[in-house]
Amino acid sequence: MSYNISITKIQQSKVETIDFNNIPLGTIFTDHMFICDYENGKWTNPRIEPLALIPTHPAAMALHYGQAIFEGMKATVDAEGNPMLFRANKNAARLNFSADRMGMPNFPEELFVEGLKQLVDLERNWIPPTDGSALYLRPFMYADEPFIGMRAATHFKFIIMASPAGPFFSKRIKLWAEKKYIRAANGGTGEAKAAGNYAAAIRPTELAKAKGYDQVLWLDAIEHKYIQEVGTMNIFFKIDGKFITPKRDGSILDGITRMSVIDILRDKGFEVIERTITIDEIKEASKNNTLEEAFGTGTAVGIAYIQEIGVDGETIHVSNESPVGLEVNDTLNAIKTGKVEDKFGWMTKVE
Ligand code: PMP
Repeated sequence: MSYNISITKIQQSKVETIDFNNIPLGTIFTDHMFICDYENGKWTNPRIEPLALIPTHPAAMALHYGQAIFEGMKATVDAEGNPMLFRANKNAARLNFSADRMGMPNFPEELFVEGLKQLVDLERNWIPPTDGSALYLRPFMYADEPFIGMRAATHFKFIIMASPAGPFFSKRIKLWAEKKYIRAANGGTGEAKAAGNYAAAIRPTELAKAKGYDQVLWLDAIEHKYIQEVGTMNIFFKIDGKFITPKRDGSILDGITRMSVIDILRDKGFEVIERTITIDEIKEASKNNTLEEAFGTGTAVGIAYIQEIGVDGETIHVSNESPVGLEVNDTLNAIKTGKVEDKFGWMTKVE
C-alpha cells in the first residue's frame, strides 16, 4: 500500500543556529513534524509540516483520561553520511501493542516507517555529525477529542517529532530498589509505553535522587522482591558467566535495546536466560563474588553500567568494570553507524 504524504516546508531552517558540539538534552526540535489525524474510524491526511503549536480543546480526552502513548528511537548516519533507522518496524509494532492496551486505534505500520523515513530525509542536516550522536525521534499518539466522559475517544492525532541528541557518556549509576512505590502490576499497563506510566514514576524517581541515587530499580507490585526494570531501561545481570534478564511477564517494557542485546550476547557466545530474578539473589551473588556485571539497556543511553544498588539500608556492590557491557555497547554503536556489517538486518536506509 502506498501513502501520499504531503510536505509543506519551512521557509528558513533553524539548523544553522544550532551548536552541535553542545546540544542541550530534549529541548531542541527540528524544523518539521509528521502529523496524521484519526477521524470517522480511519487515519487521514498524513503530512509533514513546519513544527508548530497545536490548538487543543481544554476537554481533549488525553488531558483528562490519559489516552496517550509514545515511542522513542534514533536515526544515525553511516560513514558516508547516509541516515539510517534502527529496527523501526519494532517501534511501529510496539506502538500498536500500546494502542491496543489503551483502547486506541492502531496506526498503519508501513505509514509509521514511511513517515519516519520522509521526516528524517527532510531533516538529515539535523543529524549531529559527531560520533555517538543521533537524531532522537519521538512518535506519539493521543486522544484529541473534546469530551467529558469515560469511554474510548474517537479522534486522535499521531505525530512524529525529531530532536538532535549529543553523544551520551555513560557514567556508572547507582540504583535505589524501591519497595514502597511500584511501576507496574500484573494486568496493568506496564508493557505499554503509556504516558501515565511515566507520570507515576516521576515522584519516586525524585525521592530516589534526593537520597543520592540515579535511578529507581522497580520491583514487583505484590512481594517487592522480583526485579522488573530500571528507570526507563531494561536490566541485565552477569552472574557466574551467564547473563540473566527479567522475563517478559506483562509488567516490563519490551525494550528494543533489550531484544538486540540478547541477540548480540548470544552471538558472542554468552548464555542469556530470561527468567524471574529476585533482589535477594543479586544480594547473594554480590556476597559470593559471582555478580560480575549489571547494566541497563535503552534507546536514550544504549548501555548504562550499574555500580551499586541500595536496598533496605544496605548497599549491594556490583562491579567497578563492565567489560562485556562495554563490548556490547561498542557492537551496537558500530551496527548503528555502519562500521560493521549489519548481520542481523536491523538497519533501514533512508533514501
Ligand atoms: N523500559 C522503559 C520503562 C522505557 O521507557 C524504555 C525506553 N523506551 C525501556 C525500558 C527501553 O526500551 P528501548 O530499548 O526500546 O528504548
